[in-house]
Amino acid sequence: MSLESTLRLARAGDLYPACILHGSDDTGRTEAALELARTLLCDRPVAERPCGECKHCRRIVWPQAGGGLFHPDFQVLERDLRTSTSVDATRTFLRGAQVTPFEARGQVFVVAAAESLTPEAANAFLKTLEEPHTSSPRNFFLLAPSQFDLLPTLRSRSLAIYLGGGEGVDEDEVGALARALAAALESYARSGNRMHLFAVAGTLQKAGGWQDPRARRPWEAAAAAVVRAGREADLESDLRRRVLSLAEDLLAGPDLRVRGIQPQRILEGLVHARLEA
Ligand SMILES: [Zn+2]
Repeated sequence: MSLESTLRLARAGDLYPACILHGSDDTGRTEAALELARTLLCDRPVAERPCGECKHCRRIVWPQAGGGLFHPDFQVLERDLRTSTSVDATRTFLRGAQVTPFEARGQVFVVAAAESLTPEAANAFLKTLEEPHTSSPRNFFLLAPSQFDLLPTLRSRSLAIYLGGGEGVDEDEVGALARALAAALESYARSGNRMHLFAVAGTLQKAGGWQDPRARRPWEAAAAAVVRAGREADLESDLRRRVLSLAEDLLAGPDLRVRGIQPQRILEGLVHARLEA
């Protein structure tokens, strides 16, 4: 799922209650959470959300960054301990989700470093998701470098939205891969010849660093290149959607890899499963 389609769902009020925003860097994840929160709480007509000017949009700012601006229906939970987000801080934060909104038509809750939630904190969070709540919409965003940093129970209850890039991913390398991928994808779109899909998989393998079965970096670099190629290549919308879904599939690569499957076979399998018409 891409940020653009997520914003569309948020505008229409159809967004899944819990979403993981992963990939990119701290700033990218923060900006995406703020844009989604403004879209959900903005009081302008649907097509204009987020307007950036209304009394809601203007006050949805990151804590401490807003020069005293504050919105009572937008809450952020930040890591309170050196390496973790405690269950006490999480419970206090979640109490805000037991009340009706103060000013906006809904509420937005952001966990800034969801990878640092302790197992007890994650369970408190899951319990809140399962509880019945007031009739106003309530949206939770879990921010993390990778969705695979979160407990499987949290992942299974949330929609993962990949923002591209990732920690330790080199931008020049991604750019070069994306250009080669875009060319192979355009050739495939024109001819329908499966040979071009092998070229796509072969290009992904050039992300390098596949020797370590547990390494995430090559998968993140491959996924980031696919997202960029999907945006930049000249493709019809159905193929573009499938290309963006391929990026999500690639991020699950390390799970397949630890089962002993060779990277080349995983890459070819995922590319053909997702892109072959
Ligand atoms: Zn607005």
